[in-house]
Amino acid sequence: MLKIEGINVFYGRIHALRDVSMQVTPGQVVSLVGANGAGKSTLMMALAGALKAKSGAITYDGRPLATEAHKVVGQGISLVPERRRLYANLTVRENLLMGAHLRKDAKEIEADMERMKELFPIIRERIKQYAGTLSGGEQQMVAIARGLMSRPKILLMDEPSLGLAPLIIQQVFEIIGELKSQGMTILLAEQNAFQALEISDYAYVLETGRITLSGAGQELLEDPRVQEAYLGVKAKAIEAIEATEATEATETTEATETTEAIETTEATEATGQ
Ligand code: ATP
Repeated sequence: MLKIEGINVFYGRIHALRDVSMQVTPGQVVSLVGANGAGKSTLMMALAGALKAKSGAITYDGRPLATEAHKVVGQGISLVPERRRLYANLTVRENLLMGAHLRKDAKEIEADMERMKELFPIIRERIKQYAGTLSGGEQQMVAIARGLMSRPKILLMDEPSLGLAPLIIQQVFEIIGELKSQGMTILLAEQNAFQALEISDYAYVLETGRITLSGAGQELLEDPRVQEAYLGVKAKAIEAIEATEATEATETTEATETTEAIETTEATEATGQ
């Protein structure tokens, strides 16, 4: 169990996380939803050992979590960072090996490499290609695979859907579902609240550095406060699309009517009537 108790994180005078407490239960997908700038990445980086909390405690299975990135990986927690952060000038294979850099079991590393090719067919196709030449969606798959190459007990995923097309976002969430069914524990930070909550066993809502709500994923999906603040955007977007379609339909009808009227006039003029 990963337990975060009352942590406070600052960037100079900016108080980015305020008394944040949460926990990640083994085998669950737990999500952290919140708008831009709410502090999701800050929390992920604090867990991954890239930022230090000024106060509070983070423990993993009852022991303090390391505060240096490589030690955190050694304890079984791996971060798939926001915007993928692949090494553009290294091949896909080399990027994956970076994820396994603390491991010494060469044969098992190769076996995991095969597993990654099975889980992400695109990796098999692109294994020798430079990571920088891949599309955003392909890079996201490689970043997730790199995170898995350390054989983590907990995978931290920071905004895996960021900047991707809807179809690719769907694939990313399918992968998360597949990892969940394999028993992986995942902490998922997402702005894409609807899909994150749908797949989560438990979730926390973060607003300007504070946890303001928490509950089962399904429960939060149905919570009017969440619907208004995070899912309302979706409903409004659908309304806007429907309104545009309705306007276009009216315009098409008007255009057809106008064309017909012009044609009738022309036909009348041609026949001299
Ligand atoms: P996003 O989805 O935009 O990444 P987020 O929820 O991950 O948002 P954070 O990136 O954690 O949010 O940012 C939390 C707050 O801390 C914001 O107010 C942000 O402006 C501030 N912040 C983040 N990084 C820094 C930094 N390096 N220096 C100063 N302030 C920062």
